[in-house]
Amino acid sequence: MSNNKILLIYTGGTIGMHKDAETGALVPFDFSKILEQIPELKLIDKQIDTISFEKPVDSSNIQPRHWIKLAEIIEQNYDHYDGFVILHGSDTMAYTASALSFMLENLSKPVILTGSQLPIGDLRTDAKENIITSIEIAGSYENGKPLVPEVGIYFEFKLLRGNRTVKSSAEHFNAFDSPNYAPLAQSGVHLKFFKHRILPVSQGIFSIHKKLEENVIVLKVHPALTKAQLSYIINIPGLKAVILETYGSGNSLTADWFLGLLKQAVTEKGIHIVNITQCLSGSISPDKYETGRKLMETGALNGKDLTTEAALTKMMYLLGKNLSKKALKQAFERSIRGEMSV
Ligand code: ASP
Repeated sequence: MSNNKILLIYTGGTIGMHKDAETGALVPFDFSKILEQIPELKLIDKQIDTISFEKPVDSSNIQPRHWIKLAEIIEQNYDHYDGFVILHGSDTMAYTASALSFMLENLSKPVILTGSQLPIGDLRTDAKENIITSIEIAGSYENGKPLVPEVGIYFEFKLLRGNRTVKSSAEHFNAFDSPNYAPLAQSGVHLKFFKHRILPVSQGIFSIHKKLEENVIVLKVHPALTKAQLSYIINIPGLKAVILETYGSGNSLTADWFLGLLKQAVTEKGIHIVNITQCLSGSISPDKYETGRKLMETGALNGKDLTTEAALTKMMYLLGKNLSKKALKQAFERSIRGEMSV
């Protein structure tokens, strides 16, 4: 049911920054000042309430505890609002959106992350359109049902699925891409929703999952990777998983030391190795090349077309559920929040 109320949650990011008088560098400032900059919000026919992190952060400082804080804010306010808009720095927005997509179980309301490349006070800012349209999206209901009952990122006229999104430009207003999944909505003269791409409203009871395993590492395969480096990594005490960014369709070197160390990690240490591609788009096809097939023979999991952000946070989430090795593999290799193509 829609009650025409949106909660705007401010975490920090360029959108609410100003230049520090001494250093000239951008630092977050008080949230109340941000709203003064967008008088247009008063024209929206919805009640917009706001809540701010006590200490707004540049999103480079976002950590799992901030994801938990966001999930808690949403949980505490879940029944009182139609939807949620999270103002967040763009640097780690894709990580936060991916993490939240897993942590918010049975989500049936819109959670839209947005931010901007220029501060809201800047004459040429992209912040206003991003915030206003995000609020529109979060409040879009049809027959009492939300049009976007999932975690999305809205930036520069596109709504993307959060756990499919990567930051692809440090320069352009169009800073995000969802290389393996087309946009959920497009904003032009009309706000057009592509309903066939949007997840259905969940029928289960909403809850949040707060246990995230942090002993997970991301490792990019490259031609100069050494045995000593890989050996050091798999011997990190307490390490539970390695998200391995491989070449192309899931290929990596086939040297005995490389495959041997991975096998040892999986079988002797119980470390989960995930094969994802370091390419911006496309998927793992483990049987296409010998080099990919041999890697999968070590017991690696097939990350298919997951982004690094989604693979990392999905693993942190699933490890937090204390599943058996088999159950974790099953859950990891299928789509649980629309994060991978099956
Ligand atoms: N460093 C900033 C942040 O992620 C960049 C931005 O907001 O776009 O907080």
